[in-house]
Amino acid sequence: MSLIHRRGLMLVLSSPSGAGKSTISRALLERDGNLSMSVSLTTRPMRPGEVEGVHYYFVDHAAFEARVGQRELLEHAHVFGNRYGTPRGPVEDALRAGRDVLFDIDWQGTQQLTESAADDLVRVFILPPSAAELERRLTMRAQDSAEVIAMRMSKANDEMSHWSEYDYVIVNHDVEQSVAAVQAILKAERLKRRRQVGLSDFVRSLQVGQG
Ligand code: 5GP
Repeated sequence: MSLIHRRGLMLVLSSPSGAGKSTISRALLERDGNLSMSVSLTTRPMRPGEVEGVHYYFVDHAAFEARVGQRELLEHAHVFGNRYGTPRGPVEDALRAGRDVLFDIDWQGTQQLTESAADDLVRVFILPPSAAELERRLTMRAQDSAEVIAMRMSKANDEMSHWSEYDYVIVNHDVEQSVAAVQAILKAERLKRRRQVGLSDFVRSLQVGQG
């Protein structure tokens, strides 16, 4: 067995809604067997096509509060009047086992993880290519009302104002290129010295000509 093993990392992808983050996340998960999605808790209603335990765990406010009270969430935030939060257990298990975890969370959650888990964190912000394209994508979602779209636009502006709190910024001109960029970030971050446990022993085992 190898003397070196690696602690998993936490890959956070944030963006305004409509910048293409979900498409990029899906492609990353399909192509990278060592990456799994953190499934959040939310109090917002389920949308058509969403699956309990896959897209979110859908809970009521009381259940959400109980999880907060029991310190079972790594971070939590209010978004569009609903609560969202990241269950702690699955993330800690994955990191210990050397598996990487992908988070689709907003700037509020990212700030909290920066406070509590800085060493494990890799923060990537995805920007849309232009205001016109962002607006087109925000108004395209058939399932949302005009009121929801207006709220999304204001939330998008708010989310984008936090771009400088991230380690990497990708302008999503082309999904394939953006996916490749995140894969390159992952590849380099996995090799960071601090994530590799057992390097000293390994290097000692390589010492030659000492006897
Ligand atoms: P949606 O309701 O459209 O699925 O998500 C709305 C926003 O909530 C997105 O910006 C998404 O990144 C964010 N979000 C989803 N889950 C979490 C979470 O567990 N924590 C935080 N802080 N934000 C989340």
